[in-house]
Amino acid sequence: MIKSKSTLLVLQGTIIPYEERRNCRSKRLSMHIGKDKVRVTIPTRASKREIQEFVTVNQEWILKNWLKMQEKLTEAAEKHYLSEKAFPLLGQPIPFQTQITNRKRVTLRYFDEGHRIEIYLPAGIPPEQHQSVLREIIEKWLRRKGHEIFQSKLDQFSVLMDVKYNTFRLKEQKTRWGSCSSKGNINLNWRAIMAPEAVVNYLVIHELAHLRYMNHSQDFWEFVGRYCSDYAAQRDWLKVNGESLTLN
Ligand SMILES: [Zn+2]
Repeated sequence: MIKSKSTLLVLQGTIIPYEERRNCRSKRLSMHIGKDKVRVTIPTRASKREIQEFVTVNQEWILKNWLKMQEKLTEAAEKHYLSEKAFPLLGQPIPFQTQITNRKRVTLRYFDEGHRIEIYLPAGIPPEQHQSVLREIIEKWLRRKGHEIFQSKLDQFSVLMDVKYNTFRLKEQKTRWGSCSSKGNINLNWRAIMAPEAVVNYLVIHELAHLRYMNHSQDFWEFVGRYCSDYAAQRDWLKVNGESLTLN
């Protein structure tokens, strides 16, 4: 059973949304710095005084890490890939150049050597539309690449993990990076293909692990950890940088 209570913490003048979650499966008090709140997980038997003490003892740590998280979030939100004339694929920036041509259609060419892209824009497109036209064609290319990459990783890791999935679809989801149904149908968010490869591997392993455990139990995470020992770091990376994985 999980019960939660939300409130606010005030540490040295900084207001931090705070949540207490009672979880009968946890054995000790633990703390998690999320991007929008700090959460304390509490075993059922813990008293009010114990919780208070736990928070008091850790307050320096909470404040330091909360501020660090907020800073990272601001940095991530300030990134604009298209204005920087580069966008990431598996965490590696791919620079692109645009050229106005007399072609009829917007075309994108990828050059393997140099890992770069050229985009040809028909002269008839007004400059104020360039941004959205660029976004559209880059997204199309990234989706195709993403499909290819996810597919080969799913095939590779499913053999390694000895699980079988049914279908795979690339999706655009606002808040989810992936899902796996009880029928073994896996969805992955195309935007994730912009994340570093270690994060992409983690996502694939996470969804494939649901073919064995349809929950986020300890057994599930142990199984994930066998193929991705630093999964916590990858999960945190997504929490902090996930929102910046967009073509702005
Ligand atoms: Zn999951």
